[in-house]
Amino acid sequence: MKTLREYLAWAKEKQVAIGHFNISDSEGFKAVVETAKELGVPVIIGVSEGERDFIGLEEVISLVKTARANGLPVFINADHTYSVEKAKLAIDAGVDSVIIDAADKTLEENVKMTREVVEYARSKNTEIIVEGELGFIGKSSKLLDALPEGVSLETQTKPEEALEFVRATGVAMLAPSVGNVHGIVKTGEPKLNIERIQAIAETVGIPLVLHGGSGNQEEEFREAIKAGIRIIHINTELRVAYKEGIEEGLKSGEIAPYKFLAEGVEEMKKVVLGRLKIFNML
Ligand SMILES: [Zn+2]
Repeated sequence: MKTLREYLAWAKEKQVAIGHFNISDSEGFKAVVETAKELGVPVIIGVSEGERDFIGLEEVISLVKTARANGLPVFINADHTYSVEKAKLAIDAGVDSVIIDAADKTLEENVKMTREVVEYARSKNTEIIVEGELGFIGKSSKLLDALPEGVSLETQTKPEEALEFVRATGVAMLAPSVGNVHGIVKTGEPKLNIERIQAIAETVGIPLVLHGGSGNQEEEFREAIKAGIRIIHINTELRVAYKEGIEEGLKSGEIAPYKFLAEGVEEMKKVVLGRLKIFNML
């Protein structure tokens, strides 16, 4: 089976993006993997620090390895990791990729931390992909009333800064700030800066990752993919779907978890299906 690195090259060739969905339990995993299987596309399971504490990092890696042993191209990413120490733990545990997120630190500190994780990953297994973040995009996967403080056009990532960052750190993927924001802003803001995505992609020459995909429109996604986005993160939309599905499932007074949770899985699957079709141009 292709590695994640090989799938990224495949995605570039096909001009598509690989879907990255955050989960915190086996139901989320099931919803994502079953849907990707139905469509026959690769998919990435994302676990943030909080999510991996809940499901267990080794446990979720086992789920991913089982899926792969069954022939499904499923990969696991240690999403937003805020310390070098936790990034190293994730690498040791066997993730396919890890994001060291020091975007809210000074550039110097961000470069230093990211570089350390890249060197550690290389010393362990050259297939492990390290993603760096440059430019602040907020931290919360929630429904927001307004844009988070510190996110604006001025704070968007600049192509020449991105190139300097990639050269100084050796990252294989970059998450820029390009009008994207974590969570769903109720006002529908912001819009993706497609020209900026294209300029960064052409300058750095490595795959770009779009975080905070929840709430963006289909056409924006298609343009962003054409401009060089190769992975798109969806989290908040799945959380909302899961909660609403479980609420429906509980209405009947059902007490069997596999029955009331099943409605949550169904709702998540609808979200995953819609997003994967767009990302894979299906
Ligand atoms: Zn993110």
